[in-house]
Amino acid sequence: MKAKTKMIHAGITGDERTGAVSVPIYQVSTYKQDGAGKHRGYEYSRTGNPTRHALETLITELENGKAGFAFGSGMTAITSVMMLFDSGDHVVMTDDVYGGTYRLMTSVLNRFNLDHDFIDTSDPEKVEQAIKPNTKALYIETPTNPLLKITDIKKMVEIAKRHNLYVIVDNTFATPYWQQPIDLGADIVLHSATKYIGGHSDVVSGLVVVNSDELANDLHFIQNSVGGVLGPQDSWLLIRGIKTLGLRMEATEQNTKDLVAFLQDHPQVSNIYYPGLETHQGHHVAKQQATGFGGMVSFDVGSADKAEQVLQRVNYFTLAESLGAVESLISVPAKMTHASIPKDRREELGITDGLIRVSVGIEDSEDLIEDLKQAMA
Ligand SMILES: *Cc1c(COP(=O)(O)O)cnc(C)c1O
Repeated sequence: MKAKTKMIHAGITGDERTGAVSVPIYQVSTYKQDGAGKHRGYEYSRTGNPTRHALETLITELENGKAGFAFGSGMTAITSVMMLFDSGDHVVMTDDVYGGTYRLMTSVLNRFNLDHDFIDTSDPEKVEQAIKPNTKALYIETPTNPLLKITDIKKMVEIAKRHNLYVIVDNTFATPYWQQPIDLGADIVLHSATKYIGGHSDVVSGLVVVNSDELANDLHFIQNSVGGVLGPQDSWLLIRGIKTLGLRMEATEQNTKDLVAFLQDHPQVSNIYYPGLETHQGHHVAKQQATGFGGMVSFDVGSADKAEQVLQRVNYFTLAESLGAVESLISVPAKMTHASIPKDRREELGITDGLIRVSVGIEDSEDLIEDLKQAMA
């Protein structure tokens, strides 16, 4: 099955009993048992729910894994994955991970003595050097936010094999439409499905796929013990979102290419961060491990004032956090998502006050370009 067909036909489609083409929303908490302890596969919706199960089966097939799990947010998905580890374990992580992941590790899980180091994982040598006797996993995000840095997943897998570590990949930006880390040897793939997978800015959710029966058992035990499951209505919205994931990813990428071409010719734009550009740090690795470069682009307009002007003047770009939706979103990381990072550290990373991040939607690119042109004039 090719990628776009898979988005429609993978997983559990429709309803056997009635012939309904869409998976029913099983808005239910408990299930009638035929005798004490004799249930028909479902007993309580924290443990399992048919609509959630349909979504979990679908994402498992899209990521080519063994089992999938749906959570009430990306952060609950990440937290649940971290609960696979013990107090005293150590995880090597990409240094520019999502801000919420950074906060989880440094302000919550640190209190339970789960140790971590943030490393530039685009440099495999640095990763190798950061491994300690108690290291249990490499946790990587690729591409990252907002500079779209790329980590070589296969190289991470090579290192992990030598040291007997898990490789965990946050695949939110690439989506399974472009990138399947389990095929490259990763053990666990996770998503903020709030972003591209949902795709319509209308649901907060997280997904995890694992590559072994052992991890599947362990993570289901955690999901059922801790809770944090995704409700049936939201599960259904994700199934619907996935049906157009291929179309949306193709459309956003085409629009992004058009926008990048415009930005390249613009005299006020200095740095453009997009993995599709040959000059981008991770272009060659991105090309090897993913079939598309995605719809996120960041660029520098030189100053905080100029960036503010652009934000105030745009009509088709919504000033908001989040990404991966049908509508274009615009933000200034230094003042929004990355405001908690000290200014000199930000500048060091390249997150200047004039850096604008765009999540390109699926509007007509002519309109998006015209809009940016007038906003920057
Ligand atoms: C948004 C995001 C998260 C967190 O997901 P929520 O659904 O907001 O909890 C994690 N990782 C990445 C890369 C994200 O963009």
